[in-house]
Amino acid sequence: MVQTTRHFFPRLNAWFDRLPDTRVQEACTYETRFLAWWGLWLYLSQLGSRRQLDYELRDGGPLVLANFNRLADTAQTTLPVHDTLDHFVGHVALAGWEHVRQQMAQRLLRMKALDAARLLGRPVLLIDATGLICFHRRHCPHCLVQRHGKQTLYLHQVLEAKLLGPAGVVVSLGSEFIENADAGDTRGKSAEEVKQDCELKALGRLLPRLKKAYPQLPFVLALDSLYGCGTAFALAQQYGWSFVVTFKKGRTPALWQEYRALLQECPGNVLTRAWGDGREQEFRWVNRLDYEDSEGRCWKLNALECTETTAQGVQYFAWLTGLPVGRKTVEEIAQKGGRDRWKVENEGFNRQKNSGLNLEHVYSIDPEKWKVYYLLLQIAFILVQLVERGSLLRRLAAELERPVWKLFGSLRNVARRLLDSLRFVRWDDEWFDAAAAAGLRIGIDSS
Ligand SMILES: [Zn+2]
Repeated sequence: MVQTTRHFFPRLNAWFDRLPDTRVQEACTYETRFLAWWGLWLYLSQLGSRRQLDYELRDGGPLVLANFNRLADTAQTTLPVHDTLDHFVGHVALAGWEHVRQQMAQRLLRMKALDAARLLGRPVLLIDATGLICFHRRHCPHCLVQRHGKQTLYLHQVLEAKLLGPAGVVVSLGSEFIENADAGDTRGKSAEEVKQDCELKALGRLLPRLKKAYPQLPFVLALDSLYGCGTAFALAQQYGWSFVVTFKKGRTPALWQEYRALLQECPGNVLTRAWGDGREQEFRWVNRLDYEDSEGRCWKLNALECTETTAQGVQYFAWLTGLPVGRKTVEEIAQKGGRDRWKVENEGFNRQKNSGLNLEHVYSIDPEKWKVYYLLLQIAFILVQLVERGSLLRRLAAELERPVWKLFGSLRNVARRLLDSLRFVRWDDEWFDAAAAAGLRIGIDSS
């Protein structure tokens, strides 16, 4: 951890210093960067709730204060009390944290640390929505309302854009919160139609912001079938991006029928691959399918499919794309643009929900504050993944002559060890030498 943050920490401290902090300066006991680290450690050591900061950090060990001062390069004389972080979170605008995240991502992009996962030379952006918080009664004017039989649920959701890196690493680039205005008039609409409206509207806000932040990157958007529509295609076209969208019969039935018919007429568009482990894949494709969307716009779409046979059975996947599909590209598009999309679900959301990161925990009941907690979690998760999948841990494992996964037993234990280190190990000044850090490179383990 220290090695990895060493690469980032002089920069992180500088970025934290630029967080627009609206507190009255005289009343402020703690420096911004100290509290920024305090907040990040809630997630780095996977404490699960804000109260645990008191038990595990404040009263947790003899070296916490000294180590935090070293990390933040501050000279605080006490540790924050229970609500300090929450006050701090309320004073730093969301935009400030978004800026920190952008600085981190741009640093990784400049280092080319994520380039191995590019698709036909383009960075892949995984886009998916997830539920954040769910209440049984309305808690604020922005709650999304969903009726399930007699039960009414009040939800908050987020649409997340994550950049795909090697070895399952996903780096959060953009987050758009989905709010009740997105649902429009819900009368007579099915839950699926409401979901569609919400996510497409949020997509319409998310993508322009990403274009503004990363104007040069020729993204490929990896999307689920919900986005197989003119709205998403037009947004991608507007920004010079491409897309790989899950192709489902139910979403665009006429297009599906045409695809199945044309497939018969292109028997040469096939590629088979047999893997050493008994897995067999067959790829087929059809180019330049005509699709007219609900607003009368005409699109030329390429479609591809992958049938995978293993001892366990047969799995079938299909996608629509604007990328050129042929013998040389079909496999890469299916894998990096299609199959890898589950990673945003798996590595991104499931991991964040089913670990001490505790994504669905109500870190604050104030909706503006929990957006900040959400972003703190995303920033910490970038650091966590660099520790777990970075070359520095691999080097340590090589020195100890053990496989990486045997170093700590489980990922949960990595967080525990980080916490132990913070509490009981005196962190050397030398570890924080900015000049030495400048020479360090982090490669991501893709073995
Ligand atoms: Zn609400």
